[in-house]
Amino acid sequence: MTRELVLDPAELLTATQPGHTNGTQQNGSIFPAAPGRSGVDLVAAQRAAADFLAALGIELDREGLDETPARMARAYADLFDARPFRLTTFPNDAGYDELVLARDIPFRTVCEHHLLPFSGVAHVGYLPADRILGLSKLARLVEHFAARPQTQERLTRQIADCLAERLRPRGTGVLLEAEHTCMTLRGVRALGATTVTSTLLGTLRSDAGCRAEFFAQAGVRR
Ligand SMILES: [Zn+2]
Repeated sequence: MTRELVLDPAELLTATQPGHTNGTQQNGSIFPAAPGRSGVDLVAAQRAAADFLAALGIELDREGLDETPARMARAYADLFDARPFRLTTFPNDAGYDELVLARDIPFRTVCEHHLLPFSGVAHVGYLPADRILGLSKLARLVEHFAARPQTQERLTRQIADCLAERLRPRGTGVLLEAEHTCMTLRGVRALGATTVTSTLLGTLRSDAGCRAEFFAQAGVRR
């Protein structure tokens, strides 16, 4: 018997992880939740983008820039478009009890502090108990939680918590490596610097051997 758990974007808009960021909390008020899709008002976003660029002294009345506010609005709407999906699970009939790991899942999101992109790869794994997951769903989980202004710490934690809650495996491990353009292109301009975050739960956290295996398989030395 397969079991399907639907993840709705509206759920994501209200999700908070207090205590796992630098104190700021996601309040979901940027694009309030609406049934089905997040209630994006592209016309208002376009108007605001034009005002924003004008306030920065960028003249929009020349060819090439006249459509930029509309393109900006669509680009950000696309970045925040959390598609609902089904987290399909299957009975672990074969009794597989070793690590399942999806490595190098590419992701992109936007930092909530500067609204600049950060991107990289996610390694998501679990130690199965009674049920296993369709493998593509690990990538969909990452995509789902990346479709919001995020911090890397919260994104890591949300993926791990969701997997642990929905699948109830013996252990869960999530490791993210990302480059933040707010750090590489501005500010300290630390080009090439990457940030690594991880959340381990259950046996993957408590058992030193499992922990080491996860980091070894994910390709990170810890
Ligand atoms: Zn930032």
